[in-house]
Amino acid sequence: MMQEYSADEPEPLLSEWTLDLLNNRSELADWVDGFGSPLHVVFPDQANKNYLNWRNELRTVYGDCQIQFALKACKSASLLRAFALAGAGADVSSAHEMTSAFMNLVPVERISMTGPAKSDYEISLCIRHGVAIHVDCIEELKRILPVADTVGGIGRLFLRARPISEHGSRFGMTEDQLVACLQLLEETKVERIGVSFHINDYQVQTRAEQLRFCIAFLRRLCAKCLTPGGIDIGGGYPMRYLQRFDPVAYGSGVHWGSVAKPGNYPYAPELAGAHHAAAVIQAALADPSDRDFLRRHRLPILLQPGRSLLDQCGISAFDVIDVKDLGERRFGVVLDGMSFSLSETWFGADFVPAPAVVWREKRAVPRHNARYFLVGRSCLESDVIRWRGLAVEGGIAPGDLVVFTNTAGYQMDSNESSFHQIPLPKKIAAVRRPCGWKISADEARQRGIAHQ
Ligand SMILES: *Cc1c(COP(=O)(O)O)cnc(C)c1O
Repeated sequence: MMQEYSADEPEPLLSEWTLDLLNNRSELADWVDGFGSPLHVVFPDQANKNYLNWRNELRTVYGDCQIQFALKACKSASLLRAFALAGAGADVSSAHEMTSAFMNLVPVERISMTGPAKSDYEISLCIRHGVAIHVDCIEELKRILPVADTVGGIGRLFLRARPISEHGSRFGMTEDQLVACLQLLEETKVERIGVSFHINDYQVQTRAEQLRFCIAFLRRLCAKCLTPGGIDIGGGYPMRYLQRFDPVAYGSGVHWGSVAKPGNYPYAPELAGAHHAAAVIQAALADPSDRDFLRRHRLPILLQPGRSLLDQCGISAFDVIDVKDLGERRFGVVLDGMSFSLSETWFGADFVPAPAVVWREKRAVPRHNARYFLVGRSCLESDVIRWRGLAVEGGIAPGDLVVFTNTAGYQMDSNESSFHQIPLPKKIAAVRRPCGWKISADEARQRGIAHQ
């Protein structure tokens, strides 16, 4: 059984399937025993549901929105396949991610290559397969055009704009550079030219303003008799992990090394996911003449959410190896895993939503007022999985499971490492059937595809 979350911990929002697994310990424990700790469990049915919710929400603000899942947010093959089968595209940044998109059934016309540093080989791959290329800089465009000429032209190309709000960024082009690209493009056979951006903040207005900039740019492109190809407004829509989050209260807990590390993520944004994205488009298209322009040229708006499309799509379970008494009611909980297996540590921050503790067996004597620090199994002092001491009414004991929920977006694999030759954690896909849970290896190659 799962223990209650302590009152002073940020209690995560949980999906029904997550609660089901946490409350029926045996299944999850059997899977961890069978596949090793930590174990990442993904839920393809949730991916399918999320995509349909996104699509329906976006349809309310603009008729032609195309959602492309940003692969870097999670390497799960079964989640990608679930998105692809539901109708999503893919945002890839290397030949490797492109292969993964092909193998998991994403049609080429729905793939965008947005990586800012493409090799000549990757450029050829895109042109020959008809994958849309997103050009990061004029130097890159000068490498792309000769390749396009050798095969008689290029289908879809997007010019990446440097966000107005991030003029110090090393990605994308300034307005002058974008205009200089148009001059080069007038001499080459490119069917459709779009414009794209990716912004790193979570304000609706910042993206809306950038989208308006893109519309104005496409009008200039049309004035040069080039054919516009759409606007890609990138990813970065915030996701809601918690009903509410109070960083001050979080900081007031007991922390490893006495430093609180809540990070900068807005764990409880007012507008999250598809609602946030819809608000961006709604705000940007307030001027009816802009809307008319997009409709007249049949221009799609592309979106590339990673994290927020993965809301509630997976959990990460760690086995407890030992619980060490460190004195003063502080305990070090040694997990069978490392901080590399929960990636928020990449930003030197805690993954804030409290993990659930699932008992191996009910205990006689709970340890009141104790603080449990979750640490990795490596020999590094800095291998800490949660700096904030966890308060757990019933205590934690070896053999319990510590389960971080809602981890599919970036937490599972973005900085995994085979440090110390420990094999990388496994992922499994879980599907709930009337007769119980069915699990499968999280791989592209499957015997059938009809059963997810
Ligand atoms: C990272 C990235 C995304 C996805 O961002 P999320 O925050 O996961 O939504 C989309 N597009 C580009 C170009 C990116 O670099």
